[in-house]
Amino acid sequence: MQIIRDIAMLHRAVTALKQGGKSVALVPTMGALHDGHLSLVHMARRVADHAVVSIFVNPTQFGPNEDFAAYPRDEARDAALLVDAGTSLLWAPDVGTMYPGGHSTHIEVAELGADYCGAARPGHFDGVATVVAKLFNQVRPDIAIFGEKDWQQLAIIRRLARDLDFGIDILGAPIARDTDGLALSSRNAYLSGAQRAAAAAFPAALSMAAKAIAGGADVGETLAKAEAAIIRGGFDSVDYVALADADSLERLTAFRKPARLLAAARIGRTRLIDNWPVE
Ligand code: AMP
Repeated sequence: MQIIRDIAMLHRAVTALKQGGKSVALVPTMGALHDGHLSLVHMARRVADHAVVSIFVNPTQFGPNEDFAAYPRDEARDAALLVDAGTSLLWAPDVGTMYPGGHSTHIEVAELGADYCGAARPGHFDGVATVVAKLFNQVRPDIAIFGEKDWQQLAIIRRLARDLDFGIDILGAPIARDTDGLALSSRNAYLSGAQRAAAAAFPAALSMAAKAIAGGADVGETLAKAEAAIIRGGFDSVDYVALADADSLERLTAFRKPARLLAAARIGRTRLIDNWPVE
């Protein structure tokens, strides 16, 4: 696996990978890799000839009081996992390469980025969209793979690729979960033992609510019950539990397909997100 930090070298390396008509799938990450990320790499290897993974902790998608400085970083460990997963190339630019002095152009995500995590984290999706567009232009993959874990992000990236004519196929990968149902996340590392045990209440509440709504229960009441169950389970606050159109992300007050439960909740200083299909 090549580890590359320079854009001109990246272009040469990707051109070489593509020789003979070979395809490239990109998996963008912020590192601190877990089995969820690795499932995306495995998917990349199934759908393309080469898996390219990027690791970049993007400062512009963190708010001023968020965890940019504390975000876990261990490139040597990540690189070893990526070698085992069959990655061809690791793109690991530093902040100065991604945002050289004078960088002043960014993408603004309109309505898809306004609600849910966008409401709780102003500017977050503008930062995500801008860095993903830059990664697309840097790597020029045929395919890019994102996790369903970040459902709103996946919807925004699909729209970005279409709106700006990137000509890249965007694939969503299923959520990888721990045995107790908690979605794998780099941020789970922030949880104490007691918080980690309590966190299973989050997916449990979403799963119950999804079943109830699919079975015809009142949407407003079910969402309120889910919030209460998450708090009872040991969370300190709930940012949102919402029923959304799975594609447009429009809030739904009555069940119709395709629908997805979207949720974010805080336990201690850690903010966790999850989502669940309603079918
Ligand atoms: P991150 O490093 O958190 O920015 O995540 C990089 C990519 O991995 C994103 O497309 C995430 O949606 C995806 N991802 C993170 N956690 C999971 C998970 N538990 N299951 C599937 N994909 C995930």
